[in-house]
Amino acid sequence: SSVFVNILQAPEDPILGVTVAYNKDPSPVKVNLGVGAYRTEEGKPLVLNVVRKAEQLLVNNPSGVKEYLPITGLAEFNKLSAKLIFGAESPAIRENRVATVQGLSGTGSLRVGGEFLARHYFERTIYIPQPTWGNHPKIFTLSGLAVKYYRYYDPATRGLNFHGLLEDLSSAPPGAIVLLHACAHNPTGVDPTLEQWEQIRQLMRSKGLLPFFDSAYQGFASGSLDADAQSVRMFVADGGECLAAQSYAKNMGLYGERVGALSIVCKSSDVAGRVESQLKLVIRPMYSNPPIHGASIVATILKNSELYNEWTVELKMMADRIISMRRQLFDALSKRGTPGDWSHILKQIGMFTFTGLNSDQVAFMTKEFHIYMTSDGRISMAGLSSRTVPHLADAIHAAVA
Ligand code: PMP
Repeated sequence: SSVFVNILQAPEDPILGVTVAYNKDPSPVKVNLGVGAYRTEEGKPLVLNVVRKAEQLLVNNPSGVKEYLPITGLAEFNKLSAKLIFGAESPAIRENRVATVQGLSGTGSLRVGGEFLARHYFERTIYIPQPTWGNHPKIFTLSGLAVKYYRYYDPATRGLNFHGLLEDLSSAPPGAIVLLHACAHNPTGVDPTLEQWEQIRQLMRSKGLLPFFDSAYQGFASGSLDADAQSVRMFVADGGECLAAQSYAKNMGLYGERVGALSIVCKSSDVAGRVESQLKLVIRPMYSNPPIHGASIVATILKNSELYNEWTVELKMMADRIISMRRQLFDALSKRGTPGDWSHILKQIGMFTFTGLNSDQVAFMTKEFHIYMTSDGRISMAGLSSRTVPHLADAIHAAVA
């Protein structure tokens, strides 16, 4: 018999498992609102035009080789990525005190940042929001950090528990790491206002807490790359240190290319150089060096002003379609007179709406209406279309009635 005979069947991933269940359902009316991937109004995955153009340029380049990248990835991509998140005019970039490495999308960048901190930073506790993206606690625990939660979401208002957040960060040990969603908080769609960000910044700096930004939705939330990076830029503008993990999965639609970056903003270029040298020691035994194709696409787009502008237009188009789905779903529930206050559908930001539906209601909607979503009541607005909104509204109406 097999040497693995005693291995237990592992449960499906709570998020990716939704798609597994969806794929098994033969119903023609089924809708997948589980996975965080953009779909067109026709329900189809989208490859951006600008990505196709960049790939064409890369294919036509006769010097396109398949040699290994350096451990830190494509240098040009790293520079452009730092510029994208911190701003072209960022003093930290000008002063050469940002260490940037290419990562395996957002997940890999978070993991490398987490492991670097576990090896070299004095306070090995990271505070993450309650709730947060389900992968965060696992990524940071396996990085070697101790994971604690700070209050974030208030189910009563379906908004930010700002008081609880400040209280929990106030009582964190000095130097503790704090994971912050740069924009479009997943799964709640609830972001602090700029005034609240400023208060968070003051509190964190006064206590010496270390910000670790997760930026998975830059430009995808509001349609503006600059607006969605404001939180991060506030923390860099004060001259303090921070980490930022970037993903190009959503904003360039490069999901499966696994392209992202980790930047560590330091106080001096001397420190940044040493930090980079240690990041290489984290990466080398983990996956040696990152893949070349996705980073080449991103660099091609970011360095060419024509392609860059075209990207911002396509990005805004995706963001606007999601925002219009919020309006359509809200209107459809209003029209049905569905009990409850649904204004949070309009207020929440980014790819997801945290509906407030409980796991029983979610199970009911899946069973009776073939609507697939995570059991916490999160729906991906990007998976909706004008055609499927009425069906979803019927399901929600039946679930809460
Ligand atoms: N952080 C958050 C908050 C996310 O929602 C996601 C995507 N689901 C990621 C990070 C990372 O995704 P990826 O590794 O595909 O870039």
